[in-house]
Amino acid sequence: MKHYSIYISIFIYFSVQQVHALEWPNIQPKKIGTHTYVIEHGPHDEDPKVSHGFHNNPGFVITDTGVVVIDTGSSYEIGKMILRKIKSVTSKPVTHIFTTHFHGDHWFANQALVEAYPDVRTIAHPKLISLLNNGEDKFWLDVFSKRLGKDFAGTKAVIPNTVAENKDYIIGGMTFQVTLFDKAHTATDLMVNVIEEKILFTGDIINNKHFSFMGHGNFKGAYEATQKALAMQPVYVVVGHGRSGKIHLLEEFEAVYHKIRSEVGKYSEQGLMDYEMKPKVVAAFDKYKHWSGFDAQIGRYVNQVYTELENEAF
Ligand SMILES: [Zn+2]
Repeated sequence: MKHYSIYISIFIYFSVQQVHALEWPNIQPKKIGTHTYVIEHGPHDEDPKVSHGFHNNPGFVITDTGVVVIDTGSSYEIGKMILRKIKSVTSKPVTHIFTTHFHGDHWFANQALVEAYPDVRTIAHPKLISLLNNGEDKFWLDVFSKRLGKDFAGTKAVIPNTVAENKDYIIGGMTFQVTLFDKAHTATDLMVNVIEEKILFTGDIINNKHFSFMGHGNFKGAYEATQKALAMQPVYVVVGHGRSGKIHLLEEFEAVYHKIRSEVGKYSEQGLMDYEMKPKVVAAFDKYKHWSGFDAQIGRYVNQVYTELENEAF
């Protein structure tokens, strides 16, 4: 009888391990171009107990000389997963990482890649590098360790080491067109357009059916950045959150920005205060209310657009 209970304990132990292994983000890279992959976790999941903090879209491009990564993820563990997935399709080293902006869910996982490839160039907006080097890293460490708990264990802030420029980076025979934005989703954004593939990585300026956090942003700048992205006419778009897809994702988001701008503009002209117009704008967005982040962000968008219009008026 005693033997049975030992077997049952062993069985339970391995079952629990199995469940954990299945629950842990373990996403197969999706091939989206001749040389380009995305490790896509969509739809966006706000609950870190479900997502373990993995709710964005790290991408990578295999060039002649090495692998170029665009965005990683929220933690050291996620970085190790990304590394395993890259190694499952190529033996080439990671040579460059572009970080689209300073929110921790896009760069904390750099740690695992830098540990594996110490010479990697980690490239980001100059403001991102100065903010993180001047104490902002502590803020993000605090936010993510509280949000992710044990899933954040072992994570350190490995700050990007190379200032990004507005230019074409030619790496291993491929062209990475980088566009910097000083005022968009944050003050630290960049987009990466992989010219030969016609694939655009937008960061959180564009999402798929997800209203991203507006608290660090500038509405006018984000709207203009979206129009700039559309003008690039990519064949495929990797957004910050939610599934990647074709150019309709840009068109859809542009329409949302346009609608918010015109609704708030209309009520501003009628002399309404932001809190007075909010229920009217929410009602006008009925067909978007199933988008994730709607309840948390729509009020922020209204306040932001209202404030920007007020400032423009002076
Ligand atoms: Zn963000």
